Amino acid sequence: MRLLQNIAAIAKGLSITFREMFQPTTVENYPDGKGPLRGAVFQERYRGLHVLQRDENGLEKCVACFLCAAACPSNCIYIEAAENTAENRISSAERYAKVYNIDYNRCIFCGYCVEACPTDAITHGHGFELATYNATNLVFRKEQLLAITPAHEGENAMFNASDPEKMRSITR
Ligand code: SF4
Ligand code: SF4
Repeated sequence: MRLLQNIAAIAKGLSITFREMFQPTTVENYPDGKGPLRGAVFQERYRGLHVLQRDENGLEKCVACFLCAAACPSNCIYIEAAENTAENRISSAERYAKVYNIDYNRCIFCGYCVEACPTDAITHGHGFELATYNATNLVFRKEQLLAITPAHEGENAMFNASDPEKMRSITR
């Protein structure tokens, strides 16, 4: 009786295997696919490389409060704060992050830093191609993490232009 049960279980398992063999392939065609993600497909909730966001005026949202670094269980965020001045305003608050590094050798993409941030300055993006032979390449600096434009503007060429007035006249 036991033998028959085992044979039935094996037959059931193999039937699933053979059935799946004739189904269409559903794997992602990464890295040979089309588009900027080269065939990779992400859910919206995917936690990838961090992005340091800008506010609606283009200023950095990070105010160097260190809460993200305090919440990080891997101790992989390094921040140096500096004071804003009238001549050199980087964020809308008193301070800004002069240095903001994330060490992706240690980051576990838990999202605690994102949860802890009071200004929504740090978020997860969808960047994922981190593999490298050199571990020092995994220490990302602020300049690599900063959003080019405010989140609500997306890829806004006018915002990036060195002369916004001239750009406006072109796009009118
Ligand atoms: S995702 Fe987690 S481990 Fe990575 S920097 Fe944020 S808090 Fe630290
Ligand atoms: S990213 Fe957010 S939590 Fe971290 S220092 Fe900047 S403002 Fe504070």
